[in-house]
Amino acid sequence: MPRQHTPPTAPPNHLAIEGLEQALSVCSSPLPALLFFKAVEQAPVAISITDLEARILYVNPAFTQVTGYEAADVVGQRQAILSDASTPRELYTALWQTLSEGKTWCGTLINRRFDGSRYLADLNIAPVVGAAGQITHYLGIQRDVTQMHQLAQQVANQKALIESVVDAEPVVIALLDEQGQVVLNNQAYRKLAEELAGEEPARIFLDNLSQVGVDLHHARASGAGFVDYELSYQGSRWFSCSGTWFKERDSSADHFFAPRRVEYLLLVAKEITTLRRQQEEMRMNALRALTAEEELVQSLRETLAAAIYQLQGPLNIIQAAVNMLKRRSGNHASTDPLLPVLKEALDSGHQALETLRASMPEEPEEAVTPVNLNALLRDVLGLSTHRLLANGIVVDWQPAAVLPPVLGREKSLRGMLKQLIDNALDAMQGSGIKTRELHILTRAEEDTVHIRVRDTGPGIPEHLRLRVFEPFFSTKGHSGRAGMGLPLVQEIVSQHAGMVEIDPTCTPGCCVHLRFPIAAKSALRSVDDEVA
Ligand code: FAD
Repeated sequence: MPRQHTPPTAPPNHLAIEGLEQALSVCSSPLPALLFFKAVEQAPVAISITDLEARILYVNPAFTQVTGYEAADVVGQRQAILSDASTPRELYTALWQTLSEGKTWCGTLINRRFDGSRYLADLNIAPVVGAAGQITHYLGIQRDVTQMHQLAQQVANQKALIESVVDAEPVVIALLDEQGQVVLNNQAYRKLAEELAGEEPARIFLDNLSQVGVDLHHARASGAGFVDYELSYQGSRWFSCSGTWFKERDSSADHFFAPRRVEYLLLVAKEITTLRRQQEEMRMNALRALTAEEELVQSLRETLAAAIYQLQGPLNIIQAAVNMLKRRSGNHASTDPLLPVLKEALDSGHQALETLRASMPEEPEEAVTPVNLNALLRDVLGLSTHRLLANGIVVDWQPAAVLPPVLGREKSLRGMLKQLIDNALDAMQGSGIKTRELHILTRAEEDTVHIRVRDTGPGIPEHLRLRVFEPFFSTKGHSGRAGMGLPLVQEIVSQHAGMVEIDPTCTPGCCVHLRFPIAAKSALRSVDDEVA
């Protein structure tokens, strides 16, 4: 039942004044006791003063406002008049325990108003100590905090809801403050952190983004953030990473009157390792098919070149015979019956040569682009996996962590590296080779990229080290291929202003060093411009 609230200007309750007389009489302040009374009377918080049995002696008008009880209703009654059965009894026991120790008790209780409705009371009860040091009264101050609690609860509920939605997300989510500290994360993030043996995933993502050239300052300042950057973790796991910055009002007391906005980075990463593996597998299959075709065309080219080379020899001899015959017979040469036969043989030989030359497949034109030799070597190893496994060859692959690009023709460089690795595998295939190891290393040296390919095969004898670069020379005699592998390697290396040499100090096996100039930044820029 709602009641009319007595305004603070109403005449003070006499019962209350009588009950308080003693307390006010001991007041040692130079201020008049009545002033203290009026201050309490007009205070905007609900105040009650009780005796030691919690029997109410005085309540101020704000008490009436909060509880609905008039002073006349409650003076002489126990404070328990406000109590509600839903407040746990242990709370009262603790309350009285605190008071009995002469201390102030603070807490929240469920109270009942005059009309029976419940509210949450934020209550402070302080013992009032008399002149002799003994507790004479209790002072209760309370506020209705029902609304505040509801709001706090709503915020907590929303937070819990957001957290559970964020937790249920299969993507990795982290919120970072201005110092780069993770202030919120989800289940997937915590799982990833566990898998990364305690490394902070957010730190790894941000470092990686900088390495792939994402300008985080610009992304932040422009407000655009960054979207779907594909990053690798130790080359074995892949993530697609996005980030957005947003601002929130600083809730610290320092900035209550001078609002400041604090910035947070919301980092979202999706693991795409499976997708990348599938894509990589498809790429390798396509590469395998392409390489097989290229190898076929190359071997056709080698065979035709060898045929032309071999045909050229007898033709030269016939030409020499014709010349000799002409010289010997002088003016009667035209009557020599051998001459037309030889000429005919020469002509059909030249025709055959022309036919062979015309059948030579053309070398396709390839654009010059920045090439990462680590990636090409990885491709070639991937292409050779089957052979490596089948022959029990152990691969020691030591790529430089960061390898600057070289400017070159990707396909021919890849073909050249494949040729070198195929040579190494061929060399280790013999039954007498017990240790089968392929060591590949890449390093960035001053202004060159250095590749070393070493095998544990029989090696190349010293006197043949230069000859192996001659066309059609093969250490395998006539049983081997056309002997164009290393000359081709040398040709491609020269086209790229590089160097190839066989290490004379390497034993056992064969060790080939390749060096290519690192692409100058200006050259890379102009290639980029051409592509754009
Ligand atoms: P009670 O029988 O009153 O007591 C519960 C427990 O407190 C028991 O364990 C009992 O042993 C102990 N106890 C009770 N009285 C005393 C005492 N005088 N000395 C030592 N131990 C004691 N309660 C509310 O619910 N709402 C209020 O807004 C509220 N305001 C208060 C303001 C003041 C100034 C004081 C002194 C107390 C206030 N109380 C208030 C507490 C109130 O007095 C009751 O203890 C409480 O309401 C429980 O009442 P009850 O009848 O259910 O149990």
